[in-house]
Amino acid sequence: MAAIQDIHQSQRAFFDSGATRSLSFRKSALKKLKKSLKRHEKDILTALHADLRKAPVEAFASEIGLLYDEIDHTLNNLRQWMRPQPVSSPLMHYPSSSTVYREPKGLTLLIGPWNYPFQLVVNPLIGAVAAGNCAIVKPSELAPATEAVVAKVIEDAFAPEHVATVTGDGATVVPAIMAHRFDHVFFTGSIPVGRKILEMAAPHLTPVTLELGGKSPCVVDARADIKTAAKRIVWGKCWNAGQTCIAPDYVLADKKIMPELLEHMRDAVTQFYGDDPAKSGDYPRIINERQFDRLSGYLGEGNVFYGGQTNRADKYIAPTILTDIQPGAKVMQEEIFGPILPVIPYNDTAEAVKIITSNPYPLSLYIFTKNARTAQTFIDKVAFGGGCINNTLVHFTNLEIPFGGIGPSGMGRYHGRFSFDEFSHIKGVMKTGTWLDVPVKYPPFGNKLKVL
Ligand code: NAD
Repeated sequence: MAAIQDIHQSQRAFFDSGATRSLSFRKSALKKLKKSLKRHEKDILTALHADLRKAPVEAFASEIGLLYDEIDHTLNNLRQWMRPQPVSSPLMHYPSSSTVYREPKGLTLLIGPWNYPFQLVVNPLIGAVAAGNCAIVKPSELAPATEAVVAKVIEDAFAPEHVATVTGDGATVVPAIMAHRFDHVFFTGSIPVGRKILEMAAPHLTPVTLELGGKSPCVVDARADIKTAAKRIVWGKCWNAGQTCIAPDYVLADKKIMPELLEHMRDAVTQFYGDDPAKSGDYPRIINERQFDRLSGYLGEGNVFYGGQTNRADKYIAPTILTDIQPGAKVMQEEIFGPILPVIPYNDTAEAVKIITSNPYPLSLYIFTKNARTAQTFIDKVAFGGGCINNTLVHFTNLEIPFGGIGPSGMGRYHGRFSFDEFSHIKGVMKTGTWLDVPVKYPPFGNKLKVL
């Protein structure tokens, strides 16, 4: 714990020295990070395979490639993002000019989960560094090989007074870190721990970004391209074996097309992973026995249309499609976070909207339809973090759109410019000329109201 205090003190002094503020410092730090990522690419892929049996292609795309994109995009745009932005001023205060400045907040704390244990701490770090901050990174202890590689990559790229890693059991380490004052905390993880983070941030009134979870529905309308919908849903669900915060959690299928959709989903699983996904090198495993046991419990809550095979010793759960879900089943109340996909029929759009809105605000919503008006109805009537039409997951990769939740699925947003803004203090300053001093605002007011 003494180490935490030392890091905190040295980062505070480093930040206060102004060293992190210049464009050149920020760019050079991001370039060093990119170099370190390149140098450790193999170690990162090995660690992700050890923790989650992620295939190298999937691991590269979701945990490294995205980071290169984020760094390149930031390097290309940072000068412009940092530029003070002139804006108009009210005529009432003529002659005035106004400017919006984006300033570093100071010391940031970035806490990550185990499911994308590399990308989900390094991605916000790019925003924190781009915005001119110092950072302490706390990766998840539940992906221990990746936790070690995060520390290595960071140590190679940054001086500890700029960015440092603190590792260990979250329930012990995070309260010890947050006993110190931070200027921003960025947390990705579960709703109950997110609530604790907010409580720990309260004494210092530290602003917090929470990237949380929840149930993200897919809706398949009768006018969708059913085969493509099935493929993209299964792809999004099986990525990291469903252990993805934005994975399709359940499917609402127009009952007219549900049998066809189910057939195509089964075909998609075999097309991707063969008849026995346990033998596919591309299909990941469940992180630990605790999660395996929780997920296995859902299998009895409906009819297994496809899949259902498990192997505890291997932490393997086959991609599983469940139908005829029992009333009150936990699988429809809790975030699934694994490769089990309930499919539920609906009669019309209004009923689908009602089912979705009877649950808390989802992190993502996926709408499959060729009908623009139907898609718009869901966009307008459902509050959700973000999502896709005729696809799953890919909105996460677009640096031009914000990523974040709403209500219980989170607060704040990031990616691209949105990350830079999230980690900046946005400061407005109005400057008034002295060559004219309009007297109307000064007392005595008399009957000036008439003039106004
Ligand atoms: P978690 O909340 O258990 O852990 C997240 C982090 O918090 C870890 O670093 C952990 O060490 C720390 N932590 C654990 N207990 C703590 C405590 N008592 N006090 C302080 N810190 C503590 O989450 P997880 O199980 O690692 O991740 C799964 C959850 O994360 C799912 O709900 C998923 O939806 C969500 N998630 C969200 C996003 C997103 O971008 N919105 C992305 C990935 C995962």
